[in-house]
Amino acid sequence: MNYQTDVCIIGAGPGGSLLAYLLAKQNISTILIERSDELGKEFRGEHLNEDGEMILKKHHIFEEIESLGLLRMSRVEYWKDGHVFKTIESELGHAGIHVPQQHLLQSINSQASIHPSYKLMLGTKVTELMQNEKGQYTGIKAQQKGRGEIIVESKIIIGADGRYSTVRKLAHIKNNIHNHGYDLLWAKIPAPANWEPSIKFALVKQQQVALFSQAKSFVQIGWNIKKGSYTSLRKQSVQPFLDQLILAFPQLKESMEQNLHSWKDFILLSVYSSHCDTWVKNGLAIIGDAAHTMTPTGAYGMNAAIMDADVLSQILPNLLSQGSLEAGKLKVFENARRKIVEDLQAQQVVTEDSFMEKFTNSLKIEKENITLY
Ligand SMILES: Cc1cc2nc3c(=O)[nH]c(=O)nc-3n(C[C@H](O)[C@H](O)[C@H](O)COP(=O)(O)OP(=O)(O)OC[C@H]3O[C@@H](n4cnc5c(N)ncnc54)[C@H](O)[C@@H]3O)c2cc1C
Repeated sequence: MNYQTDVCIIGAGPGGSLLAYLLAKQNISTILIERSDELGKEFRGEHLNEDGEMILKKHHIFEEIESLGLLRMSRVEYWKDGHVFKTIESELGHAGIHVPQQHLLQSINSQASIHPSYKLMLGTKVTELMQNEKGQYTGIKAQQKGRGEIIVESKIIIGADGRYSTVRKLAHIKNNIHNHGYDLLWAKIPAPANWEPSIKFALVKQQQVALFSQAKSFVQIGWNIKKGSYTSLRKQSVQPFLDQLILAFPQLKESMEQNLHSWKDFILLSVYSSHCDTWVKNGLAIIGDAAHTMTPTGAYGMNAAIMDADVLSQILPNLLSQGSLEAGKLKVFENARRKIVEDLQAQQVVTEDSFMEKFTNSLKIEKENITLY
């Protein structure tokens, strides 16, 4: 089956979905391709910071998400020996917002679906890029569940397909990876009774443990472990590991005992950041994690993907109407975003390196423009 469109976006994560909506709203025919057969199936970050909040409000998506359910963090707390010793309150009125992935993507998709120029293809995995004789990208080939190969011809391809981007690989864009010395174990458990929406940090064996309150009364545990150590950790009993967590946060005891029993109850995130040699080629651009994977620190990844989409949606319509989609013109997008993203990545390193210092300061309440973690 063959399709024609102006813009073909690969990946219906936060970046690809928002871009598809913003282009379709401007009557630009847009096909959004997602390999999963439902939205929000991929496990992703769900904390929105003030940048992401601002963009979602600007495009009137925030209200719908709020009606589906979200949770504002009241503050950030630092814990030692089972007690809070430092609390930071934000001048913004909240310390980040938990937005369930399904709520975010469904809200964007429901508003996009109103526009006839928007088409979403689920269960469709991109496998090849097409180019003309001049090397300009002209479309993609994909495998669609139950239908076999499909072809989408487009004026531009957008790779919004995440940290392991197929589009980036197929377009031979070099991805430079920087390890930060740690990986992350994630688990989600029901929140204990009377748990206030907050972000809590502790040091356990010199490693950061973070708790994030989530909508619908859950707590997400984010546990830093030494880079590459998970294979050997898994050979040990999980119990001493869980006991340390209970010592750090005694309130979690009951919920942990009921819900965490083995390593299988944790998900491993390989932590690294990356930057690509270029974000654009003739007839192609990459956005979000595909262009710049971030570490979890500060919850910048999803927010940066959303901001990429917002900026590109303002640049693309002009370039499409002029028929100028060569790399030199698309660089306007990269130039608008690259420095901002690289500054955030540098900030992540500073925050990670100074994390221990937070545990040496005395008891106090601060008000500042906090970042999430
Ligand atoms: C455990 C974890 C916690 C995190 N916490 C936070 C947080 O709290 N806040 C925050 O801002 N960021 C966080 N991040 C980062 C955040 O999840 C990412 O930065 C963000 O999802 C990037 O959005 P994206 O749209 O660029 O890509 P993604 O969200 O990765 O979406 C890419 C999409 O492309 C699809 N796809 C991939 N390959 C193909 C293909 N060949 N064909 C078709 N479709 C394809 C995938 O199925 C996926 O749906 C976290 C990440 C992880 C893993």
